[in-house]
Amino acid sequence: MEATAKFNENAIFTEEMKARVPSWPPVYPEIAEQLKEVYLKGKWSFNGEAEQAFSKEFADLHTAEHGIFMANGTVTLECALAALGVGHGDEVIVPALTWMATAMAVRYLGAIPVFVDIEPYTLCLDPDKIEQAITSKTKAIIPVHIYGSMADMEKIMAIAKKRGLAVIEDCAHAHGGVWAGKGVGSVGDVGSFSFQESKSLSSGEGGICLTNDSDLAEKLFRLKHIGYNAGSGQGKAASGPAEGLLCHNYRGTEFQAVVLSGSVKRLKEQTKLRDKNAGIIREILADAPGVEVQARGRLANLQGYYALTLIIDPDKLNGVSLDAFQDALSKEGLSAGKTYGPVYDHMLWNVSKDEYRKEDCAVADDICANRALCFAQNWLLVDEESAKAIGKAIKKVAFSFA
Ligand SMILES: *Cc1c(COP(=O)(O)O)cnc(C)c1O
Repeated sequence: MEATAKFNENAIFTEEMKARVPSWPPVYPEIAEQLKEVYLKGKWSFNGEAEQAFSKEFADLHTAEHGIFMANGTVTLECALAALGVGHGDEVIVPALTWMATAMAVRYLGAIPVFVDIEPYTLCLDPDKIEQAITSKTKAIIPVHIYGSMADMEKIMAIAKKRGLAVIEDCAHAHGGVWAGKGVGSVGDVGSFSFQESKSLSSGEGGICLTNDSDLAEKLFRLKHIGYNAGSGQGKAASGPAEGLLCHNYRGTEFQAVVLSGSVKRLKEQTKLRDKNAGIIREILADAPGVEVQARGRLANLQGYYALTLIIDPDKLNGVSLDAFQDALSKEGLSAGKTYGPVYDHMLWNVSKDEYRKEDCAVADDICANRALCFAQNWLLVDEESAKAIGKAIKKVAFSFA
């Protein structure tokens, strides 16, 4: 109401456009009705109908055979690693830039995360730097499809095959994406997704593992369901888990599954809209000095987005600092935040230095400190006029420093 004065009259991205950026998470009234039904039914957990239906729907959408629903997108990673036999002292390659859960999951199993640098344009794990980080202890690679790009699964799968390593795709930022004709998360041995509130498909908390391997699916189900096999009722386990497979209660609830089933119906359309608007902004910035949008995955057909990430080149912008560029964007009504930063520098990362390894990660260090700013994915759910205005306003800021 009182904000009118703050917006400069010449703002390309107007206050009215800003008010139209949809808030996140979205609220769909019919889901509230379905939640009430589930509540009144009194069947809230233990692989209920809604969980089974959503798991199948989500797996189908990503061209995977099996979907195993869990409590969040950290335990999905932990269970994926455990199902693939990763344990104490093994090494797992992870990108320097990701949410720290990717590396924490490795530590939970007593294994050693090995941080490898990222590509400067996609910001995903750099395939050319993986092989030099592999030792006799390496068991797995976790590429992360970060923000608005996809890791190069073709190159990573080739390395994994050659070196006998497992691959877990961390798809917490990539819901709905398609890589070379396959759903994201169905290319590696296991795909892990999070449905935490900020993610582009959300139920507050939640996660799922996708796989095409029925043995892995069986293990994953037992791992999250305290050892129960799929399909057995409470107190009626038909068989136990293999000796030594330490199983947890990492179950989600029917409430989460109902929210997700209602929301996933919109995911396809939303993913297309985000991808289209990112394309509009990318095109407008094509002739802007010193700023570009994070590159799409090399073989991405449809790109999932958790954020629209700008990469600036301070050398072409009179040495502008990231803070100054961020400030200038905000004066144009554009709210962009910094990346997570490299995991090993994160405030919450308290793993001791002898419990992880770090390769030279100069690209990640530079990009996070000096060059990358992220708009949350709901900024890509705007109309075409607003998307164009966002692109033009960013361009105006770039010219002001050039
Ligand atoms: C959100 C996220 C996770 C973890 O998911 P939670 O559901 O929050 O536990 C894992 N990896 C990445 C890249 C994420 O962004």
